[in-house]
Amino acid sequence: MEGLLTFLGTGTSMGVPTLGCDCEVCTSADPHDRRLRPSVLLRWNEVVPGGARERIVVIDTGPDFREQALRAGLTHVDAVFYTHAHADHIMGLDDLRPLSFLSFRESGPIPLYASAETTATLERVFDYTFSPDATYPNRARVELKPLAESNPVHDVEFVRVPIMHGHMKISGFRFGGVAYLTDVSSIPEASFALLEGLDHLVVSALRHKPHPTHATVEQAVGWARRIGARHTWFTHIAHELGHEKTNRALPTGMALAYDGLTLSVELSTANL
Ligand SMILES: [Zn+2]
Ligand SMILES: [Zn+2]
Repeated sequence: MEGLLTFLGTGTSMGVPTLGCDCEVCTSADPHDRRLRPSVLLRWNEVVPGGARERIVVIDTGPDFREQALRAGLTHVDAVFYTHAHADHIMGLDDLRPLSFLSFRESGPIPLYASAETTATLERVFDYTFSPDATYPNRARVELKPLAESNPVHDVEFVRVPIMHGHMKISGFRFGGVAYLTDVSSIPEASFALLEGLDHLVVSALRHKPHPTHATVEQAVGWARRIGARHTWFTHIAHELGHEKTNRALPTGMALAYDGLTLSVELSTANL
């Protein structure tokens, strides 16, 4: 079964251009150098009696989610997966409201899959949505769901891939032949077993200079070589990396992703 994976944003937490910066990349005329906060969208058609239903899953809803959803023409969301609770990954949660109002009657609240740590932060930041005492009438119709090792959404399995973000253990995800690992600074040995036989690896690569909680391009290239996916795409990119110049120096089969890039992906593991 085929699906489409779209990069809604490929920038680091501050986005590119970065406010107040006049560097070469922040002032670049190349549209590939404009990066919203990191998120991806997966869509596929589920076969249902009498036809097919388009299913849509989003990974992270950062502060640019509204703009990204407009660009992608989103009219519904079947589920959201959260990698961790930093602002650049969660602050657009409230913009799920209009989509949740539309789908609530037919399919109930939109499920939001998050680890226990991420759930605790989401409940605190969005207490007017999640508190049992919440009375705000226009709160999002969403429901936090504990993240299991494998999480089915209709007919696609989303497998949690534990990764490290500095000292925080956060979640990457594998679905079919794709893995999405953002905000990673190291990959635990046990997680490499979940990354075998990949067609597309998406992994974060901040810049060349080391950072305490994010991989450099060089580290990310090292993991990409070991994992050996057919294609590797880098995301969560800071303004130190110009699109064209960085891509010219990358090994074959590896490239910086960019906002709007859409890949055709295999979602059933049987055909890999
Ligand atoms: Zn981030
Ligand atoms: Zn982060």
